[in-house]
Amino acid sequence: MMDESKTLKEISYGDLGNRVHADGSGVAERRVPTDGMLELTRLCSLKCTHCYIGDARWKKDPRELSTDQLKALMDALAERGTLWLTFTGGEALLRKDFKELWLYAKQKGFALVLFSNATLIDDKMAGFLELHPPQCLEISIYGATRETYERVTLIPGSFDRFMRGIENVRKRGLPWVLKAPVIKELAGEIPQITALASEWGVRLVLDGEINASIGEGQSGGKAPCASRLSEERLVDFALEDKNLLIEIKGMARERATAAMAPKTDEPLFSCGAGSNMFYVNSRGDLQMCVLTHHRSENLYADRTVADGFDATWAKFGDFRKIKMRADSPCIACDLTGICKSCPGFAHLENGDEHSAVEWLCRSTHLKALKTGLPHRCDIKHFVYTPPKKP
Ligand code: SF4
Ligand code: SF4
Repeated sequence: MMDESKTLKEISYGDLGNRVHADGSGVAERRVPTDGMLELTRLCSLKCTHCYIGDARWKKDPRELSTDQLKALMDALAERGTLWLTFTGGEALLRKDFKELWLYAKQKGFALVLFSNATLIDDKMAGFLELHPPQCLEISIYGATRETYERVTLIPGSFDRFMRGIENVRKRGLPWVLKAPVIKELAGEIPQITALASEWGVRLVLDGEINASIGEGQSGGKAPCASRLSEERLVDFALEDKNLLIEIKGMARERATAAMAPKTDEPLFSCGAGSNMFYVNSRGDLQMCVLTHHRSENLYADRTVADGFDATWAKFGDFRKIKMRADSPCIACDLTGICKSCPGFAHLENGDEHSAVEWLCRSTHLKALKTGLPHRCDIKHFVYTPPKKP
């Protein structure tokens, strides 16, 4: 329940969700699909080395949803209580009908977020977004210098287009956030990227947790994992986050007085996926989140999109009742609070939702060691063993 002593400014979106129903139950209990992402296309203007999309970035997909299909989907979402809607890609701005879809979503009253690499934000597009502003524009940066940026994006000339995009965003005063993947190719430039963010007066979000690809082809599968930092470097970056250090100190204090009870009956999905969050890919598959295509259904298969949504959403409710398998290394782990592993990440990595992602598992233990956080988990969890076939 929401802390009544908080001022409006301090109330988080999650808190607000808990206010939705008069009886005190929140969106999570009711499973209202408040928070969704629409992947408008997998096509992209860049070819980033660490990208999770796969080869679909450079091949037009004949199954990509049409304008009318996307509008029907937005109708269904609005009726089902979706508040936040993120347009993503690939590069969403590559869709020729982007403006039409955006205006339609605005008309439906969604709070809109746009993920973009900014290379297609010319003066006209920035002007359009100024007139019909997003709640937030989340822009990815792949280097502070041309050399690094284009070593990641593999597209000559893309750095200049990116910088022009940023200039247009700033000129129009759009609400935005800058995001940088902390990968091998650009980790050395994080200080310069941080300096750029402060020069531009924008919040910078760093993310080093690179998952395996959700797509097919030469750049699919485990290809993006080659860009991952070593566990040492990843943890060093993570521990620069003051909030994480405060959180770990708090956990250590609690553990000094009482050890965490071993867990035996844990739900597999403990995040918001399929509870209030969802993802629809560019072919119309409704997923619990971007990483869980193995638990998806197509919304347009022999039914209306509204019926498809309701039927699939009901199945997600069942998926959320699944318990962690008894042989999962994560079930008894007392480091889950600082670990970025999750069933979707693990499925992409090992083909098994109940497994541990070795790279993340090692990083988490290292984080605990470096900060002196007492924990039970031992080294045997570092090595992933696939489950025996029945
Ligand atoms: S990481 Fe983003 S910008 Fe880069 S190729 Fe993939 S979808 Fe495009
Ligand atoms: S540290 Fe390892 S065992 Fe613990 S939750 Fe993370 S992946 Fe699972």
